[in-house]
Amino acid sequence: MSSFLTLDQINVTQQNVLVRLDLNIPIRNQEVSDDTRITRALPTLNELIKKDARIIILSHFGRPKGQVNPEFSLQPVARLLTEYLDCPVHFASDCIGEAADFAIRNTPYGGIVLLENLRFHREEEQNDPYFAQQLAQLGDIFVNDAFSCSHRAHASVVGIGDYLPIVAGRAMQAELMALQSILKEPKRPLMTIAGGSKVSTKLELLTNLVSKVDYLVLGGGMANTFLLAQGTDIGESLAEPDLIEQAHTIIAKAQENNCTLILPQDYATPDGAFKIMDIGVTSIRTIQSALDQCQTVVWNGPVGVFEVPPFDKGSVAIAHYIAQKTQEGKLVSVAGGGDTLACLNKAGVGDQLTYTSTAGGAFLEWLEGKTLAGISALLAGGSQS
Ligand code: ADP
Ligand code: MG
Repeated sequence: MSSFLTLDQINVTQQNVLVRLDLNIPIRNQEVSDDTRITRALPTLNELIKKDARIIILSHFGRPKGQVNPEFSLQPVARLLTEYLDCPVHFASDCIGEAADFAIRNTPYGGIVLLENLRFHREEEQNDPYFAQQLAQLGDIFVNDAFSCSHRAHASVVGIGDYLPIVAGRAMQAELMALQSILKEPKRPLMTIAGGSKVSTKLELLTNLVSKVDYLVLGGGMANTFLLAQGTDIGESLAEPDLIEQAHTIIAKAQENNCTLILPQDYATPDGAFKIMDIGVTSIRTIQSALDQCQTVVWNGPVGVFEVPPFDKGSVAIAHYIAQKTQEGKLVSVAGGGDTLACLNKAGVGDQLTYTSTAGGAFLEWLEGKTLAGISALLAGGSQS
């Protein structure tokens, strides 16, 4: 990868620094179920506070679809963020215009203001140039610290670079360096484990991956469509029969590329229904012995409905095995995706892999070898004038 600027190359003292974060944190019953995205943002925020920058945070939250909707307000997140920092986090009720200007003027250097959900304006997702310019007007420098949003060509990720210099925040920098060093020339054999609920969301990924990896393990709901394609009875399990053709194509492409495809051989089902909820014991053993053959594993998507015990058994067993082999120095391991990280944390091994990425979609596109729109903008450095 060509190089990008970081906080080391730019003076931020007494500057208005726009920081794009991914504060789209999972909140259930008003409780944060996983605060990884907040804790990963802290190095950049603390450094900017220390350097006496005026920090203006940009983020989206949920999918309000271009409409103001209190349900998707970032205001509670501002309160929450305050608990993680030594300074109060101000809040602006709009991310552009008068409200944003006013809140920024009232924030001291060394202080933080969080602007309201970017996606309350439909122009954000349209990468509208005028909207990008209105965001850019609020600051002197743009720091992208949201790798997990950088596969999207949105105004706060890409368009804003037409008006401001772009530098990488510390989390972005760490993520790019780690993925680059681990996955550019991975030690082989290389395994990918792909799980999750549906094939449709990862079809393109699977198609691209079979020519890149030595082992492809499929689990979760998405494996069902492949089982169906092979003529296996899957009862009432979640599947996408209209994708059987594509499943066949992927199976054939795996064969052509000497990629060993591993599908579930046995399953866990709920009482009284033939509905596949998790992989079974034989499948777990098969995956573990394939892992013994590998030097690198990349994992996205739990292999079962891990939120509902006992259907977390397969994912937890694999998490433990990968963590153990990593700790023994026998395996390089990378995992990414919101649910995948939640699953690793549930297994108690969230910090025992070589690297964990908070990004889901962006991580997958990276794996496919695609150029991420936000990373291209970062590499281009933005507007230096
Ligand atoms: P990530 O967030 O890590 O990218 P995904 O969102 O793709 O992962 O997949 C996680 C979801 O897949 C979980 O909600 C899990 O319950 C679901 N899932 C896993 N296995 C199955 C299955 N057999 N049937 C239905 N859903 C499943
Ligand atoms: Mg998910």
